[in-house]
Amino acid sequence: MKYQELVDVFESLSATTKRLEKTDILAAFFEKVDDETLPQVVLMSLGLVFPSWSEEEQGLGEKLIMKAIADVIGVSIADVEDQVREQGDIGAAAEKLYLKKAQTTFFSQALTIDFVFKHLRKIATVSGNRSTSRKIAIVLELLSSASGTEAKYITRIIIEELRIGVGEGIIRDAISKAFNIEKSVTERAHMLTNDLGLVAKVAKDQGEVGLKELSLTPGKPVKPMLAQLADGIKNSICEMGSAICEVKYDGIRVQIHKKGNELNIFTRRLENITKAIPEMVDYIKEAFPNEDFIAEGEMIATKDGKPISFQYILQRVRRKYNIDQAVKNTPLNLYLFDILYFKETTLDEPLYKRREILENIVTTSGKIHLSEMAKIDENNLDDAQKLFNKAIAEGNEGIMIKNPNEPYIPGIRGKKMLKFKAEPETLDVVVIGGTYGVGKRAHFIGSYLVALNDEEDNELKTLAYVATGLDDETLAKLTDLMNKYKVVEKGTKIEVEPRIILEIAYSEIVKSPEYQAGYSLRFPVVKRIREDKGLHDIDTVQRLKTMFKG
Ligand code: AMP
Repeated sequence: MKYQELVDVFESLSATTKRLEKTDILAAFFEKVDDETLPQVVLMSLGLVFPSWSEEEQGLGEKLIMKAIADVIGVSIADVEDQVREQGDIGAAAEKLYLKKAQTTFFSQALTIDFVFKHLRKIATVSGNRSTSRKIAIVLELLSSASGTEAKYITRIIIEELRIGVGEGIIRDAISKAFNIEKSVTERAHMLTNDLGLVAKVAKDQGEVGLKELSLTPGKPVKPMLAQLADGIKNSICEMGSAICEVKYDGIRVQIHKKGNELNIFTRRLENITKAIPEMVDYIKEAFPNEDFIAEGEMIATKDGKPISFQYILQRVRRKYNIDQAVKNTPLNLYLFDILYFKETTLDEPLYKRREILENIVTTSGKIHLSEMAKIDENNLDDAQKLFNKAIAEGNEGIMIKNPNEPYIPGIRGKKMLKFKAEPETLDVVVIGGTYGVGKRAHFIGSYLVALNDEEDNELKTLAYVATGLDDETLAKLTDLMNKYKVVEKGTKIEVEPRIILEIAYSEIVKSPEYQAGYSLRFPVVKRIREDKGLHDIDTVQRLKTMFKG
């Protein structure tokens, strides 16, 4: 099938914002496409050529794509850059430039969907010697046979930004509509396989019966089940009837897949981090029987046996070189809390059963643990508070409150699993600058550069850019105040006299060379304007340091 046909569909999808219309357009196309091409079309409609959890990536930055466009059209890179600036995106710029050059069109042979898909995949798999120039050669091959609109979408898929307003939900609905399948069946098949290309193919070939047979497969990560904030410990447990409460460790969530001899570890966003943590692979293999399984846990970094800040573990899992050194410097511990597959799917079992399976099969060690837990009901409610106090005293984030009778449902955030954290203390800071927002909030200053006082040299030190978290009225007031104290304005940036004091909340203090304080904050938001406070009341870098150490 011609690639132009898919591109026409993309154009119609961009032309409407209505979800139902988009679903209809896609459903009609899915019905028309042959078996082989269908999974390719599904992935490309999501701007992908590999499932989202795949390790493969094209590895070509925007600069290189711009150079390829310049080469194919015969213009300078500066011309392409100008056009990208004007259009706001590489794809639209490519389309525009192709039009300009229409009279000198090269001999063009019609691209097929299969050809484009396979070539885009090939870009990702090229490695080793001169890999960049070999990747570029493939891009040139595609672009030189493409029309302007085709080039628009080829370049957008390479940078994984298709801009047609289609997400997984619309694709699922379109599959249901095209092949006459109950929405809940398509949803469950997607939830278990995390591969919409496969779901579409099975829906077309085997209908509902085939989809119902799809199951979890070790090796293919599934979206994790997410937690909601608990509204108090006791309330939440009483609402559930009974609960499994567990220590909430502050690290990263990992999903571990073992299939045959191969063990892979994925993050919450389904990135494969196995290579960065080789020692964990060995520990985990020792801890489990030699069967296929999918388990989940929280991996934390420790020093002298105590959990250390979350950022160290991020650095560890992102590391590509000198891994041996990192293994020595940042020891990891794993706290297992769930099992989704052991010899067969276990995710439909209630949590208390899954926990039993986990406890029966795992041999814990100095590195591999089971999450600390307590079974709570109305008779021992105080034990939940005790677990919370102990968790905090030992440097953890809080507790999880889980419904013991619920199955594991991938990708949902619901009342089946709650989190209860200790709120970090707020900080009082002074605003020294800001940036205007975009879109509806273009007239408001949307983020604020805030600072603390450094007692050593009595100077203000920048700490973070803070998003507002405020209603429009307070935001307007704050913007007025900012204008009143304005010192300079450059583009969307503004500097102000240090007059406005804000109380801010955040999730964690982290070390940061980017800010003068030497530290910054994760997820900072403005809680309120502290008109009752002045510059001499703001918090100090010294207090922040103590809080960080604490
Ligand atoms: P949050 O990241 O604040 O939404 O909290 C939910 C996260 O807490 C999960 O995604 C896990 O990464 C993490 N977590 C830590 N300990 C546990 C535990 N015992 N059970 C489940 N999740 C946990």
